[in-house]
Amino acid sequence: MRSLVAGNWKMNGLSASLAELDKLKGMLAAKAPSCEVLVCPPFTLIAQAATAVKGAFPLGGQDCHAKASGAFTGDISAEMLKDAGASYVIVGHSERRQYHAESNRDVAAKAEAAWRAGLTAIICIGETEGQRSAGDHNQTCSDQIDGSVPMAATAANTVIAYEPVWAIGTGKTATADDIKAMHAHLRACLVRRLGEGARQMRILYGGSVKADNAAQILNLAEVNGALVGGASLKAEEFHRIVQGVNAA
Ligand code: PEP
Repeated sequence: MRSLVAGNWKMNGLSASLAELDKLKGMLAAKAPSCEVLVCPPFTLIAQAATAVKGAFPLGGQDCHAKASGAFTGDISAEMLKDAGASYVIVGHSERRQYHAESNRDVAAKAEAAWRAGLTAIICIGETEGQRSAGDHNQTCSDQIDGSVPMAATAANTVIAYEPVWAIGTGKTATADDIKAMHAHLRACLVRRLGEGARQMRILYGGSVKADNAAQILNLAEVNGALVGGASLKAEEFHRIVQGVNAA
């Protein structure tokens, strides 16, 4: 299985930020990475980014509407992302679940929309700090897998991102033992739900991954890559994270 290191720019980036993609492209061309690299800029930059990177690495959206088109002011469909040059889309990020009240059912519908448009869905799950301290993290995450991952998910059309909510943008990361335990739990949930093919489905870790902790996290058992927020905005740091795959 080829690991995936995905950058999520969130609501950051203007046209000038395309220079970072250009830099990243140069760094990846100088030394081929041992993983797949993906950048998810804001919607407004995807088409320009596609022109800039010329297929050197794939691009993704950060959300999509479940419908292909219609009277949904301000929303973006998976088909629009595809048309702009994306090949992935993140769905169910905890910031969408929290600030836009997205339910597991909404997330599952968005994953199906991604497939309809020919995109790979990155389905995010993760527990809050309260759920972890109450010892409910395993149950919370398996409920999110059951509710957010449609039965037609395969290793080819879906990536799972485990992102403990309390680790996103906080500088806190889960311990290596906690990450290993959760990823093993998620693997078992996916196989129970989807069958043996789910052993090939990539499970990313996300939550304050930085250049200086990436190698340790990325080489843990059942960690098949990372979803990186803040540290993906600058090409140098993101590239150092990419280099962490197979580097521990
Ligand atoms: C994210 O946005 O998915 C994320 C993990 O953010 P950060 O790396 O900034 O914690």
